[in-house]
Amino acid sequence: MSFKTLDTAEVAGKRVLLRLDLNVPVENGRVSDATRIDRALPTVRELAAKGAKTIILSHFGRPKNGPDVENSLRPIAAALASHFGAPVAFASDCIGAPAAGAIAAMKNGDVLLLENTRFHKGEEKNDPAFVAELAKLGDIYVNDAFSAAHRAHASTEGVAHKLPAYAGRNMQAELEALTAALEQPKRPVAAVVGGAKISSKLDLLGNLSRKVDFLIIGGGMANTFLAAGGKAIGKSLCERDLLDTARKIIDEAAAAKCRIVLPVDVVVATEFKAHAPSRVVDVDHVGADEMILDAGPKSVVEIEKLLGGIKTLVWNGPFGAFEMQPFDAGTNAVARAAANLTDAGKLLTVAGGGDTVSALNQAGVAQRFTYISTAGGAFLEWLEGKALPGVEALRV
Ligand code: AMP
Repeated sequence: MSFKTLDTAEVAGKRVLLRLDLNVPVENGRVSDATRIDRALPTVRELAAKGAKTIILSHFGRPKNGPDVENSLRPIAAALASHFGAPVAFASDCIGAPAAGAIAAMKNGDVLLLENTRFHKGEEKNDPAFVAELAKLGDIYVNDAFSAAHRAHASTEGVAHKLPAYAGRNMQAELEALTAALEQPKRPVAAVVGGAKISSKLDLLGNLSRKVDFLIIGGGMANTFLAAGGKAIGKSLCERDLLDTARKIIDEAAAAKCRIVLPVDVVVATEFKAHAPSRVVDVDHVGADEMILDAGPKSVVEIEKLLGGIKTLVWNGPFGAFEMQPFDAGTNAVARAAANLTDAGKLLTVAGGGDTVSALNQAGVAQRFTYISTAGGAFLEWLEGKALPGVEALRV
């Protein structure tokens, strides 16, 4: 994949339209998780240091009918400034006189945040007139919002066709990590796919089974595969209407020489709650009133062995109901094994997707993976093998 990066961009004295994803969670008026702000800082700092006029575009929330206080980016300008350690100006509209006036007042090295792009209907419609209004505010476009790249919106895709377009450092890191993990991986490569249901991950399972050597399935979705293989799984979460689909995935994976790895033993309980009394059983011995809530220790050992023989690992989804102890044990153990191999330089590990990041954080290993994607939908669509419009528009 080839795209221009900030290495080749001449930005000094230029108006740089920088698309960030500042759609950060806010609780009681405070940013409750600043990960996305922190990931944006390298590009903001680099542009400012190189003397660009950095004009930031972002969406925030899902405003329905034009501007509203709840979805204003104004408080985020203050949060960004405090993380950046320098002033960030704010304009009350992302186009028109407020934007043009604020840009006219900028000096080289200044940073300006424009109001929520989604306050205009043209943003999500990728309306050419709105795209033109945005494009005339800048000389160069830099997209650093991988997490919004699965949307063909004006600020994520349209503008890229109107101005010289570059990938920001966060976008670059995401694309390099995902390319190393899936497009040109060192083999053997394995994917861990866990989580509740296969219905939400059918495309992902299909694509991965064509690309990886081992597909390690955990979580609730493993139950559907176990049931498809004729196992009695008691009261476990299971999508009975998808048993044929699961069998098809197994057959297709076999045809593509991808080995599907399912739990051989499981942790079961009769109640879906933290600290519910539980026991470990082989997958053939799940009681009629029991439900599978985690992979068992034999499964973990088998997966740890397998990880020892591979070079690349992609991870999406937990092995069990990880929010409730003790059903986080399988996820934690496999995550630690992957982190240890990463530390030893033996394994490249890339993980992403909302619950995955919290599961790996909870396991205390997120910092030790090679790369953790902060993107949810965009990361999943990449794993599904779909082209991301915001990324495609950056290709040279
Ligand atoms: P997903 O959003 O598809 O990645 O699914 C994540 C959710 O799956 C988490 O909330 C887990 O608690 C849940 N989950 C994982 N394993 C199981 C299981 N065996 N039974 C029920 N829920 C599970």
